[in-house]
Amino acid sequence: MRERLRQDIGGIRQLLTSSKRHWTTGRELRKEFLTARRTGRKIVLDDFGPPIPAPEPGQEAADFSPKPGVDRKSHFMKLQAYPSIDYAFTVNNPPVSGNVINGLGETEPRPASPIFHTWQFGHPMGKLEFLFQGIRTRGEWIALLKRQWNTRRFTGEKAAEKIPGDDPAAMTAQIKALTEKLGACMVGIAPLTDDMLTESLPLSQAEHPYIISFGVEMDREASLHAPSERSALTIQAEYRGTDRISAELAQHIRDMGWDAQAAIHGFLQIPAAVEAGLGQLGKHGSMISKDLGSMYRLGAVATNLPLVLDAPEDIGVDEFCARCQACTTNCPPHAIFDTKQMVRGRERWYVDFDTCIPYFVENHGCGICIGVCPWSEKGRGETFSLKIMAKKAKLAGASE
Ligand code: SF4
Ligand code: SF4
Repeated sequence: MRERLRQDIGGIRQLLTSSKRHWTTGRELRKEFLTARRTGRKIVLDDFGPPIPAPEPGQEAADFSPKPGVDRKSHFMKLQAYPSIDYAFTVNNPPVSGNVINGLGETEPRPASPIFHTWQFGHPMGKLEFLFQGIRTRGEWIALLKRQWNTRRFTGEKAAEKIPGDDPAAMTAQIKALTEKLGACMVGIAPLTDDMLTESLPLSQAEHPYIISFGVEMDREASLHAPSERSALTIQAEYRGTDRISAELAQHIRDMGWDAQAAIHGFLQIPAAVEAGLGQLGKHGSMISKDLGSMYRLGAVATNLPLVLDAPEDIGVDEFCARCQACTTNCPPHAIFDTKQMVRGRERWYVDFDTCIPYFVENHGCGICIGVCPWSEKGRGETFSLKIMAKKAKLAGASE
């Protein structure tokens, strides 16, 4: 009881600080931005927010311009036309490229570095983050504050008495059932690995060996209106759902006497979800699940409660993406690579950060690429997967 009261008081304090920060962030910038959009002139981001470091000698500078490519507009998407790639802002002194920070071309594995949604405006991508946070609408800010409230129970004290963990299978069934009861549409267990951590998240395998990864279903209809304030508000509400489930699940495990904390900020959800068998990475840089395509939001809890691990599952996404171009041609600034790239020691699908993020920032978090993905239409993924996996099995059988 005392612990919960402490968390609620901490939550109120945090909320007051955040409200002040949210209401004051970039007020002047927002005014300038809206005027620039109306009049067609560009604002210079260098004039706003704290200074950011220039690229080190030899480091590639960011190129925020859209890239050439084939333009399509999917008939699924409800806006008559996608917003223009003629941005209302420019950057005179570009920082180091986001692709350098992300490790594009690096052949050695290393932890990912925090790059966006950091609230660190002195970060190389701080100008764009400042713009993103500054031009949020009032509705988006209120949604953000509601999310903030859930974070008060992300961590906390555990109960003094520990419930025995000698039957991991039974415990796993119980935890999965609870996660679904709390509102998740999918849940799996993965081991915590370096691939899931950024430098900003102090989680260790020794203290939290297990990750409970789960997804909350997205509102498909709202996602088809991307990019718009409507789709952005729905996404905030869905993230509020993942935050709430993470907080309640972590609290439940701590009440059982085991360590648990929500793994949200600075945690890479996609590698965890893939490792937990929930889906595979798609060409658009998001995970694709068999049932929902990319129509879900991910959350996670890190714990030392003994659980039974799930395994990654091949559902045929690689083969499908190799032949499909729906996301590459519908991405207005053409940020999505058509082939896999070497990133921090592994070949993977990759989205050019410098090309995506200006469009993402100016257009309510975008999201066109997940809306147009054919797997995102309910019921289709299962059929795609069955066909591809049957073909793969046949090919494998023929070559034996
Ligand atoms: S969110 Fe997707 S569609 Fe939008 S700019 Fe980025 S990669 Fe392109
Ligand atoms: S739109 Fe096509 S290429 Fe892009 S992620 Fe979906 S299936 Fe893969």
